Amino acid sequence: MSQKIQILIIEDEQRIVNVLSSVLTSHGYRAISCRTGREGLRMAASHCPSVILLDLGLPDMDGNEVIRELREWSAIPVIVLSARTQEKDKIDALDYGADDYITKPFSTGELLARIRTALRHTSPAGNTKSIKIGDLMIDFESHQVKVGEQTVHLTQIEYKIVVLLAKNAGRVMTYDHLIKEIWGPYADNNNRILRVNMVNIRRKLEKNPAEPQYIFTESGIGYRMNDSG
Ligand code: CA
Repeated sequence: MSQKIQILIIEDEQRIVNVLSSVLTSHGYRAISCRTGREGLRMAASHCPSVILLDLGLPDMDGNEVIRELREWSAIPVIVLSARTQEKDKIDALDYGADDYITKPFSTGELLARIRTALRHTSPAGNTKSIKIGDLMIDFESHQVKVGEQTVHLTQIEYKIVVLLAKNAGRVMTYDHLIKEIWGPYADNNNRILRVNMVNIRRKLEKNPAEPQYIFTESGIGYRMNDSG
């Protein structure tokens, strides 16, 4: 019944992957891994892990570049694993959007503690039962959406889109990411059905769909839920 927490390891050194995987697995997590930054970004999108452990020295791209690209569409906590001890690398990683930094070699206890902290900080909506943005209220338990006192009737798909955006309020969610999240990793990368759904969502949520106050369009990129309110 209980869903295992999935952790993605992006690391090119097989020995370290093996150690991390066995530590994580023996502590009840599900570990998935890959050796390159590109593959890591793909897996982050398709698997939506709860935490990413990221090596900075990857064969195809710099780990900081992986964080920068990831942060364009995802809030997944990233813990950087690196042999680099220089202050500058740590600051860069955090500036790019890493949540934490751990220098190799590290102890199992330290690693697990960092992971628990990252999980606690996962999207603020992670454990809450509802979200309120302005007059918009989403109750995750009853699946009820209201604007003011008015109940809004959304289809399953529309509800999923609204929840995903609300849980990531303030962050741009790319078309690709939304499509993969809602329709699955093998979905066609066609934005049309997403746009059609968004038209309907706005018609139901927004006072003036032409000037949305809840879900903004980031032209050519995706959508962003307002987080002020
Ligand atoms: Ca490496």
